[in-house]
Amino acid sequence: MKLHNYVRGEWVPHEGDGLPQYDAVTGELIATCGSEGLDYAAMMDYARRTGGPALRRMTFQQRGLMLKKLALHLYGLRKKYYPLSYRTGATKGDSWIDIDGGIGTLFAYASLRRKFPDKPYYVDGEAVSLSKEGTFIGHHIMVPKHGVVIHINAFNFPIWGMLEKLSVNLLAGMPAIVKPSEVTSYLTEAMVRDIVASKILPEGALQLVCGTGVGILEPVTSQDVVTFTGSASTGRMLKTQPGIIENSVPFNMEAASPNAAVLAEEAGTGTPTFDLVIREVQRDMTAQDGQQCNALRRLLVPATIRDNVQIPLAPRLGQTTHGHPQEEGVRMGALASRAQVEEVKRRIEELRHSSTLVYGKPDDFEVIGADRNKGAFLPPLVFRNDDPFRGQESHTVEAFGPVSTLMPYRDLEEAIQLANMGKGSLVSTVATADPGFARTYVMESAPYHGRILILNEESAPESTGHGSPMPLLTHGGPGRAGGGEEMGGVRGVKHYLQRTAIQGHPSMITAVTDVYQVGGERREADTHPFRKHFEELEVGETVTTHKHTVTEADIANFANVSGDNFYAHMDATSLEGTIFEQRVAHGYFVLSKAAGLFVDPKKGPVLLNYGLEECRFTKPVYPGMTIGVKLTVKEKVNQEKKDEDDIAKGIVKWLVDVYDETGETVAIATILTMVKKRDQSEKPAV
Ligand code: NAP
Repeated sequence: MKLHNYVRGEWVPHEGDGLPQYDAVTGELIATCGSEGLDYAAMMDYARRTGGPALRRMTFQQRGLMLKKLALHLYGLRKKYYPLSYRTGATKGDSWIDIDGGIGTLFAYASLRRKFPDKPYYVDGEAVSLSKEGTFIGHHIMVPKHGVVIHINAFNFPIWGMLEKLSVNLLAGMPAIVKPSEVTSYLTEAMVRDIVASKILPEGALQLVCGTGVGILEPVTSQDVVTFTGSASTGRMLKTQPGIIENSVPFNMEAASPNAAVLAEEAGTGTPTFDLVIREVQRDMTAQDGQQCNALRRLLVPATIRDNVQIPLAPRLGQTTHGHPQEEGVRMGALASRAQVEEVKRRIEELRHSSTLVYGKPDDFEVIGADRNKGAFLPPLVFRNDDPFRGQESHTVEAFGPVSTLMPYRDLEEAIQLANMGKGSLVSTVATADPGFARTYVMESAPYHGRILILNEESAPESTGHGSPMPLLTHGGPGRAGGGEEMGGVRGVKHYLQRTAIQGHPSMITAVTDVYQVGGERREADTHPFRKHFEELEVGETVTTHKHTVTEADIANFANVSGDNFYAHMDATSLEGTIFEQRVAHGYFVLSKAAGLFVDPKKGPVLLNYGLEECRFTKPVYPGMTIGVKLTVKEKVNQEKKDEDDIAKGIVKWLVDVYDETGETVAIATILTMVKKRDQSEKPAV
């Protein structure tokens, strides 16, 4: 079978003989793939002309809903990818991480739409005052880049590797060309076929190159973004391509990572933490056959108990059933290819320079239900390096398979030094129940690791594990791990947006951002805004309320109702040494009274008040002072209907400016209400 590339809206078979792709378990030919003759410049141009503008016309909410629809669609189809996944050497558990885990990331990014406005762009942070009179302010907006994202992925995780990246750039509003590794691209291709057939993504939002992709980065331009997952040497070669450097193209690199776990001094044999570490090492070495970027490569243990660690590890690893992924009870499958087995064996020889193999034999092991000479099998292998400050290989050589090295340390300082000798990793685990040990480890080793798992009896029951990057947390690491950063919730989306500072009068910045800025023009509402439906409200629309003079009775009554008898409100004789000149009104009274002034009480389109985003009490309010409120529509956020019975509505953010008789602001807050739409005929989005 010839794999097709998905190019400019069409499935195109590769030219020539292509490269063979073999079943990792049986050695049978599955397909051929290739990328010769592909016009990458034309592909990128097509994405920039079609997918980019289509995605940029959509708001974050619409893009998020598109991801949700896609996630639901693929979730319904997920079982069909498993048989093909087994052919990559993955077991059912490994396939679940790749397939269901990948679709889970799509769901996570779909939900993340709620952290973004219902607009194609994002207003970042708060406005900055740049003038005395408030007529000149600064702000930041973030808009999707006008280019295309090229994702170059490693052979492990052919599905997750694509979806964890694609979900982020699609939410941001950029199209992508995905280039999986030629070793396992047959699985990626199967899913992309379903994505394309579903027509859920706009034309040009996704293209696929199944072959080697040599030359793919040559046509990059300044608006493009590249992500790379793979070996450090390939990454460096691609990152230094002239086009990348000349055009300052962001290049996010995830490379080899000598991840370390540290077993704390207090966690000796027989402690729950000790047992947890043994379990974690076994799980991590055998999941995905150790072909995980997060895999635990170095285990640092107190020198006094180094033998105690080795002893329970052997039977645990020995229990791991190894063989054909579809054979009943098999927990560990094959590497992705026989070439990869040879590659790992070369690395093992390098590790031998400073370490002794203490568990497993690379050429003498049993497999269940398969021929070990035909498949890409390798058993778990544990090395021991008793002199880890001299034997550098343990920290620098990555054998991308089920291989880990055990090393002793004498004290916490040494443990930190050794962990950091990896010169940058994706993840490190510190296994301890001692907060002091954990804190020192985190503070001293965080600059060298992208993620740190603190493992102990309390966190273990629900821990997602050393090996699992989570969509809402940053995935990536410094130094040898590539210096990249992916996912991370909202943070990841920002990699595909250009942040631009904008400066001007608050009215102009309001008009550009569609978010009301303090000092901007307010339009006095003809009707009270609480009488208006969501569609009828306009940013900047304001109601100025009548006034109220605060009395001592207000303060006493509020203290009674709330039970807040703080001395500054209640005792005029206690104020020496404070900033207050007399009994001060409760801040929450000022805000509550403000609500009393601005609320229009009759039943109307406002359904409920569901909280505050920001609130500051900026000036003390004393009895005798007179307060009034300006309530301004600050921002509108559309909401989709959950089901047919749901009320069509949106969120309205209001700026509440409470001022005194001098006109000075005494309290300022953003409150959120849910407001009904006039048109209730809207259909649920997904
Ligand atoms: P690799 O050989 O470096 O390849 C990575 C990707 O680059 C593949 O898609 C490869 O395509 C592509 N590539 C190679 N040369 C290229 C060129 N001239 N132009 C365009 N693309 C090119 O790595 P791998 O063997 O697939 O993966 C294993 C490595 O990945 C390990 O070192 C592992 O540590 C690392 N990894 C790191 C992470 C992480 O997040 N840090 C995650 C997973 C894996 P072909 O395969 O088609 O040649």
